[in-house]
Amino acid sequence: MPQTIERHALVAGGAGFIGAHLVRDLLSRGFKVTVWDNMRTGREKNLAELGNTIDFQKRDIRNSTVEDAAGLKNGRITHIFNLACPASPPHYQKDPIYTWETSVLGTRNLLHIAEAQEALFLHASTSEVYGDPQVHPQSEDYWGNVNPVGLRSCYDEGKRAAETLCADFRRFKNVDARLFRIFNTYGEFMHPDDGRVISNFCVAALKKEPIPIYGDGSQTRSFCYVADLVAGILALSDLPRERYSGPINLGNPHEFSIRELVQVLERVTGQKLITKNLPLPADDPKVRKPVIDRARDALNWEPKIELEAGLKKTLAYFALEIEGVK
Ligand code: UDP
Repeated sequence: MPQTIERHALVAGGAGFIGAHLVRDLLSRGFKVTVWDNMRTGREKNLAELGNTIDFQKRDIRNSTVEDAAGLKNGRITHIFNLACPASPPHYQKDPIYTWETSVLGTRNLLHIAEAQEALFLHASTSEVYGDPQVHPQSEDYWGNVNPVGLRSCYDEGKRAAETLCADFRRFKNVDARLFRIFNTYGEFMHPDDGRVISNFCVAALKKEPIPIYGDGSQTRSFCYVADLVAGILALSDLPRERYSGPINLGNPHEFSIRELVQVLERVTGQKLITKNLPLPADDPKVRKPVIDRARDALNWEPKIELEAGLKKTLAYFALEIEGVK
C-alpha cells in the first residue's frame, strides 16, 4: 500500500482577501493548514467560521524564523503559500517601509523555512512588476517599466526583489520556489475600505454615492474573479517540479477601461450611476492586461467567470458587509 503523504500548508497572509479563499480551498482538498498573519490588513472575520480547523498564529513574517516553523501543531510543512503583503495602493503606500520589508525580508525568511522543511514555495507576485508597461499586453518575459523611487515603488520593487530571492533560492538552494503574478483580482472577503477600484465602486454604488473615477478613466485593467485566481494558484502547486519554467501570469485577459467598468456596474445594478472625477495618482499604470498562454499551456487553466457574473456576487457580498457596519 503506498503511504499517503500528509499535506500541510503554511499560508502567510491567510486572513487577507485572497488568503481567506485559499485557506478554504486547501481545507476542502484535505490539507492541514497553518495561517500566519500579523492582522495589519488581514481580518479576523475572514477566518472566524473556520475555528479550530486551522492553526491560526498571529505572526509577522518580517521577523519569522526557521525555529518558529519547527514543531508546528500540524507537523512538517509541505507547502508554503506567501500571500503576506498589503496589495491595495492606499494600504501599501501608508507605510511603505513596512511594505518593502514584508515583501523582501518576509519572503527571505519564508524561503529559509521552505529550505529547512523541504517545502514547495508558492509566492504571490504581481502584475506591478511590469510597472507602467511599454509592452501591451504583458507576457512573463517582459521585464517591466518601474519607477524605483516613486510612491508605488515600495510595492513594485519589493515584489521584484522578492521574485529575485525566489529565483536564487531555486537556483542555489534547491528550493522549489514558484512565482505567480496576480493581476487585478476582486471578490468576496475584500475589505469595503480596501481602496481598490472594484471595492470603491461597489461600495459607492450601494451607498448611492458618486463613483470616484481617478483621472479621465481611460486607463485599463483586466479583472479576475477570486475563485478563478485561487484555482490557478492551486493548479500551479500541483504542477510537477520539472514542468515549472518561470513566473506565471494569473489574471483575466478581458481588458476594460475604468469608464467601461462603470458601464458594466450600471448593467449589474440596473442603476444609472453618477460619477465624479478625482486626480490620477502618480505612476498609475495606463494599461494592464495579461498574456496567459503560459498558464493555459502549463496549468490547463484559464478564468471562467466574466466580470458581470463576478460583480454580481461581489456586490451581494458588499451589500451584507455594509449592512453589518450600520
Ligand atoms: N481607480 C479609480 N477609482 C478608485 C480606485 C482606483 O478610478 O476609486 C483607478 C486607479 O487609478 C487605477 C485603476 O482604477 O487606474 C485600478 O486601481 P486599483 O487601486 O484597483 O489597482 P491598481 O491596478 O492601480 O494597483
